[in-house]
Amino acid sequence: MYRIAVIAHDGKKAEMVQFLMQHLDVFKQNNIDLVATGTTGKNARKSGLEVECLLSGPLGGDAQIAAQVAEGKIDMVLFFRDPLDKHPHEPDIQMLMRICDVHNIPIATNPATASSLIKSLEK
Ligand code: PGA
Repeated sequence: MYRIAVIAHDGKKAEMVQFLMQHLDVFKQNNIDLVATGTTGKNARKSGLEVECLLSGPLGGDAQIAAQVAEGKIDMVLFFRDPLDKHPHEPDIQMLMRICDVHNIPIATNPATASSLIKSLEK
């Protein structure tokens, strides 16, 4: 089972839902398991996909995802960051990106890269 983590900052949540809707076929056909930070996950469910929701990002959700990456439980991270906003949990965000690099886990930080990664999963 391929497991993907999705995270979107507030200014990017609508774009994340749109992205998931655009790629529903890939997610369904490949039997992909989705896990998300709390609010992103609740929004992502609007796409009709099942999503496991962890804590909200500022409360430790990004850190939980980083821990799962470190444990080998996540195969890809789609993280729509908002570079024009401030985030109280910036250290956790940096930590997640570092842990992905440590474990060589693909992480897309914008929709264009996410599209390329998802296309690589198409059968
Ligand atoms: P959220 O967290 O999905 O709970 O909004 C995302 C984030 O800000 O990292």
